[in-house]
Amino acid sequence: MPKQRLVVIGNGMAGARVVEEVLARGGAERFKIAIFNDEASGSYDRMRLADVMNGSQHEHEIVLRDLAWYRENQIQLNGGQRALVVSRATRAVHGSAGAVEFYDKLVFATGSSPYFPPLKNLFDANGRRLDGVMGFRTLADCNTITALAAESRSVAVLGGGLLALEAARGLAGNGCQVHLIHSGPWLMNQQLDEYAGQVVERLVERAGIRVHLNRAVCSLVGQRRVSGLVLSDGSAMDCELVIVSTGLIPNTWLAYQCGLTVERGIAVDSQLRSLDDHDIHALGECAQLRDRVRGSKEAIVEQARVVAAQLLDSDSSVRYHGQSGVNMKVMGINLASIGNIHAVTAQDQVVESREPKRGQYKKVALRERRVVGAILLGDLSAFPALNAAFELNAKLSDAEIAGLIAPSTSKPNDWAQVA
Ligand SMILES: Cc1cc2nc3c(=O)[nH]c(=O)nc-3n(C[C@H](O)[C@H](O)[C@H](O)COP(=O)(O)OP(=O)(O)OC[C@H]3O[C@@H](n4cnc5c(N)ncnc54)[C@H](O)[C@@H]3O)c2cc1C
Repeated sequence: MPKQRLVVIGNGMAGARVVEEVLARGGAERFKIAIFNDEASGSYDRMRLADVMNGSQHEHEIVLRDLAWYRENQIQLNGGQRALVVSRATRAVHGSAGAVEFYDKLVFATGSSPYFPPLKNLFDANGRRLDGVMGFRTLADCNTITALAAESRSVAVLGGGLLALEAARGLAGNGCQVHLIHSGPWLMNQQLDEYAGQVVERLVERAGIRVHLNRAVCSLVGQRRVSGLVLSDGSAMDCELVIVSTGLIPNTWLAYQCGLTVERGIAVDSQLRSLDDHDIHALGECAQLRDRVRGSKEAIVEQARVVAAQLLDSDSSVRYHGQSGVNMKVMGINLASIGNIHAVTAQDQVVESREPKRGQYKKVALRERRVVGAILLGDLSAFPALNAAFELNAKLSDAEIAGLIAPSTSKPNDWAQVA
């Protein structure tokens, strides 16, 4: 039987993972695989970019699959080539350097791009973003930021979420003063409560980073290159480099252009197929299932399994239901957030345990004994049970609730040192 043609657009965490899952299920027998990727490299671990920036890892240490691996697996990697047009009429994808790949099955894994808020003077007179104002997403960003930081005395990172903290962590200790400027009342205020946010703040400050909370940037200063910024209270700050980490925009233009339904992300069903064309799948930070985009590492691993199962067996009963909890490492400590810890009403029950000397904080909000939100800091051993209880909307007994927040005997972490 002639092979079918599988084209994947994007070779980040989601695209690379789908290809691996397809190969692991014997998909090389079934598919001739071609990939378009804007970035020239093979696949690498974006989540360790801050380690490359601070010099604790070399670029080659975060490579997951090099170019030779693609050749060995007979995958046509069109690296450094952006997919510009998808024609559903001819079932072809056209790349920016002239490559054309025809498909039987197409996967969008185009991820997202940094969102630049409408700051005054963000663009120069010719409409170019000021030099020295960067997003932090790719290895290329990482290398440019490192070079610019080397000639900067002061760097401002805008934002207070995971990516802003990672950028600040990557820059700390590089010889420049790093300022983290966040409009929220505490760090990671979407996922964390004030107590946990303050723990993270202490770890950030211990790294020599200066934290400015409840401060919004309204304007940049500079002609072609940024030289400072102005805050909403009128105060000014000198800086030669600004990293903007204030949100993400899913990369959906290409899907929109070829007529697929796009809302926040490319709209997919629980088999991660486009609502409009069942030969097209989307996953990762460009895809939207029901009303949410779910692009965490755990979500992508699960989504890639579902897409590979559909590609190899169109009758597959495997479905993606949407991971609820996320876990990550922030400033050296593990952190997990489940549901919405802020959606608590006066009738809800909130239980917590604080063990700063052991570096542990656990908080669970319950409504009629069902988990509505949770935070784990330091020790994530309760994460699988908590996440399952949340997803199944399970009613918990007193003993089960006590067990979820019980301190564990795990080794103290970095927080224990600053507690
Ligand atoms: C510094 C950093 C730390 C992070 N830490 C964590 C963490 O601890 N835990 C966690 O869960 N998540 C973390 N994340 C987020 C995680 O990396 C993303 O959620 C994940 O990479 C999303 O995967 P993706 O494949 O959807 O998008 P991406 O990884 O962004 O991949 C998309 C790829 O598609 C390419 N592309 C886009 N459009 C086109 C086109 N038209 N043609 C060809 N190629 C195209 C892009 O260039 C990119 O290479 C971190 C991210 C960063 C930047």
